[in-house]
Amino acid sequence: MDLQAIANDIVSRMESESDRGKVANYIPELAHVDLNKFGIAIAPIEGEVVTAGDADIPFSIQSISKLFALTLALKRVGATLWQRVGREPSGTAFNSIIQLENERGIPRNPFINPGAIVVSDVLLEGRQPDEALEDVLGLCRRLSNDETVYVDDKVAASETLTGDRNRALANFMKAEGNLREPVDRVLEVYFQQCAIAMSCRQLATAGRYLCAAGQPAGGEDSTVTPERARRLNSLMMTCGLYDASGEFAFRIGIPAKSGVGGGVLGIIPGVASVAAWCPGLDRNGNSRLAIEAFEELVRATGWSVFGPL
Ligand code: GLN
Repeated sequence: MDLQAIANDIVSRMESESDRGKVANYIPELAHVDLNKFGIAIAPIEGEVVTAGDADIPFSIQSISKLFALTLALKRVGATLWQRVGREPSGTAFNSIIQLENERGIPRNPFINPGAIVVSDVLLEGRQPDEALEDVLGLCRRLSNDETVYVDDKVAASETLTGDRNRALANFMKAEGNLREPVDRVLEVYFQQCAIAMSCRQLATAGRYLCAAGQPAGGEDSTVTPERARRLNSLMMTCGLYDASGEFAFRIGIPAKSGVGGGVLGIIPGVASVAAWCPGLDRNGNSRLAIEAFEELVRATGWSVFGPL
């Protein structure tokens, strides 16, 4: 299979797309990003990473960081995490408040904002916010084999200024007894991890541990057990694209995680890790063209876990 030709073909199709969605503007710093950017990187389980388009430009990974943070939280507290966070698709927006009250401060899953805020609390417990952040940043660097992965301070500051909705979610959970550390410190970790910047090449390389049963690219030590990698993939499949997770499974059929920076990381277990990026979002807060790119990719490769499209 000529992955380079497939990636090139996807890029040229995306160039001619006029409806590119809208950049996230509720985090003002993200509103400056150029809507015309598009990149894709395919990291097969073994062999060279294949890239096309703007695959080496770092972008704000936003909610994709929830995957790396969850990986570390599970390492820290194991399955006890599931007493504080559920594993069901939410069917509501990533920053929805409504379910939290019905479910007494236990978020539906770790990939919506309140779930990820609990995960930040787990990473913070007993240490300083910068230590918890270093943990997440360090994992992103190690998995992508690239020490240049960084936190975009402007994006973190921008979200700190405007993140009142996340503050509301966190305060509600604190009132229900589901956060242990002070809200401001938990959100400091959360906002900074969301502001990690990575390129498609770095993200696709980092995602390899999930398609290779827990083994990071080129590493000897495992990041997670094969069993945990499988479970992370199942959560991505059911919850990774918020209230559009069902539609993504229906149209494309691979575990994936999106972020409002316009990135989508998709895992084809045992085969490849793929990242696509275009900053324009659809109404669910997922990248319009990155989703289309995955559809094209799966059509060309037959890589859906449910069988060829
Ligand atoms: N930092 C963003 C927020 O909390 C992440 C949301 C996302 O990427 N869906 O709103």
